[in-house]
Amino acid sequence: MQEKGTISIHTENIFPIIKKFLYSDTEIFLRELVSNAVDATQKIKRLAALGQYNGELGDLRVEVAFDEKKKTITISDNGIGMTADEIKKYINQIAFSGATEFMEKFKEAKDANEIIGRFGLGFYSAFMVADKVEIESLSYQEGAEPAHWVCDGSTEFEISEGSLAERGTEITLHINAESEEFLDKHRLQQILDKYCKFLPVPIKFGTKTDSVEDGVDEEGKTKYKSVEVDNIINDTNPIWTKAPSELKDEDYLNFYKQLYPFSEDPLFWIHLNVDYPFNLTGVLYFPKLKNDFEVQKNKIKLFSRQVFITDEVKDIVPEFLMLLHGVIDSPDIPLNVSRCFLLGFSNVKKINS
Ligand code: ADP
Repeated sequence: MQEKGTISIHTENIFPIIKKFLYSDTEIFLRELVSNAVDATQKIKRLAALGQYNGELGDLRVEVAFDEKKKTITISDNGIGMTADEIKKYINQIAFSGATEFMEKFKEAKDANEIIGRFGLGFYSAFMVADKVEIESLSYQEGAEPAHWVCDGSTEFEISEGSLAERGTEITLHINAESEEFLDKHRLQQILDKYCKFLPVPIKFGTKTDSVEDGVDEEGKTKYKSVEVDNIINDTNPIWTKAPSELKDEDYLNFYKQLYPFSEDPLFWIHLNVDYPFNLTGVLYFPKLKNDFEVQKNKIKLFSRQVFITDEVKDIVPEFLMLLHGVIDSPDIPLNVSRCFLLGFSNVKKINS
């Protein structure tokens, strides 16, 4: 079974434009793909809780690995997976329609974050760093067949029988020549630390290093074997997701140290848990301030469902809060943070006061 098709999109040469426009922010491809993978694991968990999935859940996790020789980065999850039809619907239609809309509106947007969120360019951002993207997926649905999708960044895609034996999705990015900086352990670790440090399922970072095995093969070539070193990069239950009654002063102080390693202990803190006018949790610290430099250095970090969004909060957080440190997490913060949020935030201010 093999099917070829054309993604219905009006502008043929959309990728180079997107790539160029988003150039300075290319690293967010990883945030987007890891977020999708996390969502997929949360969805299967929900289906199981609702009794709509009775199979083994297993240890839900997301894995990020890279292969320097093959020039690939792989993001895999054991979430809900997708059937071939779902890939056609969710990737070809939804992800790509976001891109079409993007083309029509991109002139209005102020920065890449805004575009990515507003137009659902999540999956699509893979093409900023890859000239070919493959999806292997196996849906949780009973009797589902594994599917394989490949797209080289044009509007042509190919879908065929896949090879995954277990539920989930594996996205392979064939990294393009300009993006080889991402085929580096430290660079990837840095991006994962920035965006994925507090995601709700374990993110394993597997370094696929090929080490030299003893001897040579029949043709005299050096034999390699693949070694995987896995480490989990995130804290799946950061303190702002817990109830204040579960926490001691020490926990708050340790978290502060984790966020701002070289700072003195704060004076005090507040643990936010707001339901109205929108959902918001967080911990804000009142620092001991010695100089202006520290105000600038330790910024409030904004999260959306434990995904780091930004610490450029100048236009988002009211000025009087700028001297506070800590984290704010709201599912209502879209990945594109806009000025509307500022409006909402002044409501939070009222509630808190
Ligand atoms: P968004 O995440 O904003 O909906 P994306 O372009 O990132 O947009 O993804 C489009 C859709 O493709 C998702 O809504 C989801 O249904 C599906 N999808 C993407 N990645 C995965 C994955 N790893 N597992 C299951 N479904 C996925």
